[in-house]
Amino acid sequence: MEPYYPVNNERNQSLYQQYKALADREENVLFGGRLAEYKYYDMAPVIRQAMDAAQRELR
Ligand SMILES: Cc1cc2nc3c(=O)[nH]c(=O)nc-3n(C[C@H](O)[C@H](O)[C@H](O)COP(=O)(O)OP(=O)(O)OC[C@H]3O[C@@H](n4cnc5c(N)ncnc54)[C@H](O)[C@@H]3O)c2cc1C
Repeated sequence: MEPYYPVNNERNQSLYQQYKALADREENVLFGGRLAEYKYYDMAPVIRQAMDAAQRELR
């Protein structure tokens, strides 16, 4: 019964905000996808998100 996807409850959102604060301090690294955004993504949306991020960065 263990979920294999982000569970957006108060506790997990609070934990995610702490990780995001650490990630935001990193330089020369881009975080994306399910782990980085703590969002439920299927394959097509996560690929779209990666392509959009690459386009923004490589512009
Ligand atoms: C059981 C299951 C069934 C699914 N079925 C479908 C489906 O039928 N259709 C569909 O469209 N989508 C499906 N999905 C969703 C799809 O798998 C995800 O949308 C997609 O994999 C998300 O990509 P991602 O890059 O965000 O994360 P992931 O694919 O999870 O990639 C994250 C990567 O980061 C790596 N990583 C983790 N921690 C660290 C670390 N500390 N250092 C370095 N690397 C690290 C992991 O090893 C992994 O390779 C399914 C997911 C699951 C779990």
